[in-house]
Amino acid sequence: TEEKPAQETEHKGEEAEEEEEEEELTFEQLGLDPRLIRALNKKDISITKPTPIQRVAIPLILEGKDVVARAKTGSGKTLAYLLPLVQKLFAISGSNRKLAPSAFILVPSGELCQQVHKEFSSLIDSCKVQLKAVQLTTKMPDPDLRTALAGLPDIVVSTPACVAKCLSAGVLQSSSINDSLEILVLDEADLLLSFGYENDLKALTAFLPRRCQCLLMSATSSADVDKLKKLILHNPYILTLPEVEG
Ligand code: ADP
Ligand code: MG
Repeated sequence: TEEKPAQETEHKGEEAEEEEEEEELTFEQLGLDPRLIRALNKKDISITKPTPIQRVAIPLILEGKDVVARAKTGSGKTLAYLLPLVQKLFAISGSNRKLAPSAFILVPSGELCQQVHKEFSSLIDSCKVQLKAVQLTTKMPDPDLRTALAGLPDIVVSTPACVAKCLSAGVLQSSSINDSLEILVLDEADLLLSFGYENDLKALTAFLPRRCQCLLMSATSSADVDKLKKLILHNPYILTLPEVEG
């Protein structure tokens, strides 16, 4: 098993807050790949300036830190993790291509799964890079799940229930998750436990490699988010935007 860098423990429990002087930081200054910045400019609604949560989360995620990001709905949390995640996948897919997905994004519903998959796909299309995402939902029969995974996606967008189903049906191998998974994102994390996904998550986290970078995005803080932090994250950076109340 790989050791996490020692410096990470020094930052345990650190609270990062939005700072005035960071107001004007651009996506370039956050360390984003020019291909991604061009893709943002190309989108219908052109995105030119990072939101506060993006300003603090993107550099940390690019550095490989585990992050818990809490910011209100509509603050741009999806791109806060998608942009650095895609940039990391550029590097992974360019080197030793894995036989199983390098990243999982887990969300509480099939509808959200579709939204995130769409946002990822449009970003990738604009970048013209060879990255592949699939969405897996419990509505799909086993052969369809098998076919989707056989296409060697770099990233899987799914619900915890569907990943647990794939594991128990042998569509996904726990050993390949252990070999290949580099990044795990739990989006809308505040809802995952109340939607009843605790055991499904445990089915996955049992095989989570130590090196896997974990990102937890939520709109609120709650006992459930704390529980997830304990279940999944080691020494995360806790990003809490000032305007968020409890
Ligand atoms: P959250 O997950 O925090 O609720 P979303 O990621 O769904 O928020 O983003 C909300 C909206 O803001 C989306 O329409 C998204 O395209 C837009 N958005 C995201 N980042 C930016 C940005 N840097 N500048 C302008 N709009 C943005
Ligand atoms: Mg969101």
